[in-house]
Amino acid sequence: MIQTMDLKKDFGKLQVLKGITSSFNQGEVAVIIGPSGSGKSTFLRCLNLLEEPTGGTIIFEGTDITKDGHNLDKHRQKMGMVFQLFNLFPHMTVLKNITLAPMKVRGLSGEEAEAAAITLLRRVGLEEKKDTYPGQLSGGQKQRIAIVRALAMQPDVMLFDEPTSALDPEMVGEVLEVMRGLAAEGMTMIVVTHEMRFARDVGTRVLFMDEGIIAEEGPPAQIFGAPKNPRTREFLQKVL
Ligand code: ADP
Ligand code: MG
Repeated sequence: MIQTMDLKKDFGKLQVLKGITSSFNQGEVAVIIGPSGSGKSTFLRCLNLLEEPTGGTIIFEGTDITKDGHNLDKHRQKMGMVFQLFNLFPHMTVLKNITLAPMKVRGLSGEEAEAAAITLLRRVGLEEKKDTYPGQLSGGQKQRIAIVRALAMQPDVMLFDEPTSALDPEMVGEVLEVMRGLAAEGMTMIVVTHEMRFARDVGTRVLFMDEGIIAEEGPPAQIFGAPKNPRTREFLQKVL
């Protein structure tokens, strides 16, 4: 589904991604782990072109999206993104947050968009919150709404950038539960997280990023049980 070849990103003199070659298959739950500053967020942001890569290519569903002239909106529509800090629109109700893009971008009518939103809200147990504003929700509820908002665009892949890092500990579980459900339904997911249990239980593959490269990747059992790279070992010793 996604293939990156020698993907590079510089910010001025700072080389953040130093050549990432990897691929992500349909139905896969790829979990990216690694130290702060290693380029995990930048990698995700390059995948959906929130950042423009400095070099290399990204093939998404057969199209080179790093070439000029492709449809950026169309591309972003196919990649749902969930951020650490939810990024909900504070002045809009939950329902409006969810229906806005499907109406504007996918061209759904208000009724269609609402019906779809309600179905998704029911799935995450938040139907009764449809008319409230983000400010009245807990962090865990906000993040579940943010996931619903991304899903409402019917993406082919979901990108998660530390979706539970800003949550109080007691709210982490409810968000991970929604993500587990998505994975079980076969959603293709790329997840940056420090939740090692999630990585181990739900991940089909773990990628360890370090200083702008993928230093090691493999099945969770191998990465956690028998890491080959000393840097992976060192990192895991710190976080486990
Ligand atoms: P991670 O998500 O692994 O913590 P990031 O991708 O956020 O790492 O950041 C990697 C490096 O790139 C950091 O040194 C960070 O300061 C730098 N960086 C990220 N975004 C920008 C930006 N927009 N401008 C300049 N430097 C940036
Ligand atoms: Mg980050």
